[in-house]
Amino acid sequence: MRDNSLPTAIQIKRRPEIAYNAIPASLMEGVIVPGDAAYERVQSTYFRGGAPGIVFQVSNTQQIVDALAFARSHVHLPLGIRSGGHGIRGRSTNDGGIIIDLSQMNKIDILDESTRRIRIEPGARWIEVATTLAPRGWGLSSGDYGGVGVGGLATAGGIGWFARSHGLTIDRLRAVEMVLADGSVVRASDQENPDLFWAIRGAGSNFGVVASFEFQAFEVGNVGWAQLIFDASDIAGFLQKWGAIIESSPRDLTSFLIINPPRQGRPAIAFVMAVVNSDDQKTIRDRLQPIAEIAPLYDMQVVITPYASILSKAQGGDHDGQGEPASRSGSLEHITPEFANAAAQLIQSGVTYFFQIRSMGGAVSDVPVEATAFGSRSANFEVTAAGTSQERLNDAWDDLRRHFSGLYFSFDTDQRQERLQDAFPPKMLARLRELKSRYDPDNMFRDNFNIVPQVQKE
Ligand SMILES: Cc1cc2nc3c(=O)[nH]c(=O)nc-3n(C[C@H](O)[C@H](O)[C@H](O)COP(=O)(O)OP(=O)(O)OC[C@H]3O[C@@H](n4cnc5c(N)ncnc54)[C@H](O)[C@@H]3O)c2cc1C
Repeated sequence: MRDNSLPTAIQIKRRPEIAYNAIPASLMEGVIVPGDAAYERVQSTYFRGGAPGIVFQVSNTQQIVDALAFARSHVHLPLGIRSGGHGIRGRSTNDGGIIIDLSQMNKIDILDESTRRIRIEPGARWIEVATTLAPRGWGLSSGDYGGVGVGGLATAGGIGWFARSHGLTIDRLRAVEMVLADGSVVRASDQENPDLFWAIRGAGSNFGVVASFEFQAFEVGNVGWAQLIFDASDIAGFLQKWGAIIESSPRDLTSFLIINPPRQGRPAIAFVMAVVNSDDQKTIRDRLQPIAEIAPLYDMQVVITPYASILSKAQGGDHDGQGEPASRSGSLEHITPEFANAAAQLIQSGVTYFFQIRSMGGAVSDVPVEATAFGSRSANFEVTAAGTSQERLNDAWDDLRRHFSGLYFSFDTDQRQERLQDAFPPKMLARLRELKSRYDPDNMFRDNFNIVPQVQKE
């Protein structure tokens, strides 16, 4: 709809499919549209460039309800739900659609000191969570980067620095308040709407907009934080040795590995990062010594530090992602010689510029697979590769798929529907489809790893 009182340049940028004159009064304060001075700051995400037709910056649950009502009257347009904007799939921006931006909803409240119960709004960043909890000696496992938002990570899984000692982020979730596709506001927990609570822990982006999360933090002191750099000329050998050490280590060790391919005559380099969930020097040394002996070491730094300091290197502020990210994920039970050789070939092929393996197992595998909608409980590792071409990466990754038992959709940008079967075992996917038909029959929340309802309404 054209508003003739606006300068022509701004009118041209606005999208004719959007009824700008029907924006509810309750949302006027936080609305940002093409042509506004603030638009450039909100159009893109961390990894993906976008040009949405309208962005609603909401401040409370009622505004989420109102923004969803507006979205329901524009159901043909893409709908992005944005918390921290770090979604690697990048679906929290779009071209010409609607964005519900929850970044202003970022409060962190202590609900109960004795049970370490906290309420966190989706727009908070994990560095803010860690910093708030640190003075109490509490922690929550999140991810490796403090700038990531709570909303996207806590609805997908959360594979972080305490994965082996305390499980996934969703494993500490006790309740959510969320807005469903029909605009109703519900609480979900083990006691209230338990089906929804099950689904939100792994496939959350399909079921509604979470307005707040209630977590139970754990106690944590200072931790050992290590960064090691190796000559990884023998890439396959390095991967196998690292994998065997991690699997046989006590669960107070969680480690992530990045391998850079050989470049300009220099050998491949391995960057190993590790958290030892202990402040005892001997324990830290015992866990790290076998890792330090894997291959010739270029550099090693170990500090005993608060968890929050590990997350503190985080880009704040606005995002300026460009283009389309391309990455793939696979959940791996063990680093077998066959996988290690295939991975070494991929790393050397030039198809990927970023190759990472994260340790899981331990407390992640203690939780029965049917307890949440996270499909990869038995995997000891999560493997991620990023490339510049989705097509080339898919070709290479499809060859590796036989080694994997699942995938983590937060790290996978492949849009082919078969990825759903990779992420969710058959019974889990069937249950998710049934719940999707019940809670979102019109498939409003389709713009991120979409579980299509069993019977979609005409
Ligand atoms: C640098 C970097 C490091 C990362 N490290 C890790 C890591 O260590 N471990 C890990 O597990 N992941 C990691 N991730 C992946 C990250 O967890 C996901 O990309 C996550 O979706 C980001 O959350 P966000 O709120 O910042 O993203 P957004 O882009 O805001 O959201 C991503 C998607 O989540 C959904 N969503 C967001 N908010 C809500 C909500 N309130 N209710 C319902 N659905 C919602 C939407 O579908 C949206 O498209 C990393 C990502 C980056 C960019």
